[in-house]
Amino acid sequence: MSYYVNDKGFYGQFGGAYIPEILYATVKNLQEQYLQILETDEFKREYHQLLRDYVGRPSPLYFAQRMSEHYGCRLYLKREDLNHTGAHKINNTIGQILLARKMGKTRIIAETGAGQHGVATATACALMGMKCEVFMGATDVERQHTNVERKKMLGAQVHPVRTGNMTLSDACSAAIRDWCCHPSDTFYIVGSTMGPHPYPDLVARMQSVISEEIRWQLQEKEGRDYPDYLVACIGGGSNAAGTIYHYVDDERVRIVLAEAGGQGWQTDRTAATLHRGSIGILHGAKMLVMQNDDGQIQEAYSISAGLDYPGVGPMHCNMARQGRSRVLSINDDEALRAGYELTRLEGIIPAIESAHAVAALSKLDFKATDIVVLTVSGRGDKDIETYLANPQ
Ligand SMILES: *Cc1c(COP(=O)(O)O)cnc(C)c1O
Repeated sequence: MSYYVNDKGFYGQFGGAYIPEILYATVKNLQEQYLQILETDEFKREYHQLLRDYVGRPSPLYFAQRMSEHYGCRLYLKREDLNHTGAHKINNTIGQILLARKMGKTRIIAETGAGQHGVATATACALMGMKCEVFMGATDVERQHTNVERKKMLGAQVHPVRTGNMTLSDACSAAIRDWCCHPSDTFYIVGSTMGPHPYPDLVARMQSVISEEIRWQLQEKEGRDYPDYLVACIGGGSNAAGTIYHYVDDERVRIVLAEAGGQGWQTDRTAATLHRGSIGILHGAKMLVMQNDDGQIQEAYSISAGLDYPGVGPMHCNMARQGRSRVLSINDDEALRAGYELTRLEGIIPAIESAHAVAALSKLDFKATDIVVLTVSGRGDKDIETYLANPQ
């Protein structure tokens, strides 16, 4: 069995495209065209040129000497935090906006939680001169004020969403509703490996540049092109998908993913979907979701806004259920401690999302010769106030 998507849009029993009828033609059109467009020389040339000259790729694969000594392994950090706009999200928005342009779309919509995907989308739209509208829960608009102002400065219109809990999940629903009203001219840039087929596959491919680079960077530094462990944090699953993409069928590589335990995955204050979720349909796909007995979505909680989503992408649901990936639940306090640790041992302040991945290291037993690659999905500038409010 393959861990990649099949021709019906499924990963095992997860995925698919559960959409309102009014979107059928639009989504079908995208399903039929995306691979063709992605595989043209013209697309590849433009995409890789922008990744290099605009985003700043390849991102370094940095050997973390002091952290390696601390954990008794050979630890490399994949520095997605050094990308333009400060996280991996831009790899995806640059790719999708090129796709949108090739498909003749003129208006871009996106959802955002913390605002990182919104900023990356608004950035790509400014670069391409496209109209951009971002849906964001009203609660998040308040909590993430700076990112709202960044988006406005970049020329995007921000729509506060006042339904439900007024957070990311509601922003996704609002974006899908808008898409239903404008299916022909609008391209919906989905921010993670979620949504109806082909989005999970599309986003994974856009992020797969991460593992493509890891392969040759490890070959250069270690004389072999695969690690013993890959470690990443997981919200919807895009930086994790990018980190593991070229290694999913390579059984020599162990995959460890850190999801947000919040105050503990056994409590109601958690976003540990792979621990707590059950099968349901959310935002166009079948996946593991946190829901009550009536199928009502339960609000997710994590100290990190980027991980606080009640679902997780279908590729990861399948890999976790098949036992291919090992999923650890990392609580708020463990992530904060790990964030401070990386800062003091290596001089790198990680996003609190990425700090969840760092915290996973202390739960693994390494041999001294083990090569570990951990993706630092974003930088911590946006989280300084949270770090300062929780000194370690
Ligand atoms: C959005 C975000 C995440 C979580 O999203 P994934 O799709 O799971 O990668 C993780 N880290 C950072 C820095 C983010 O901005």
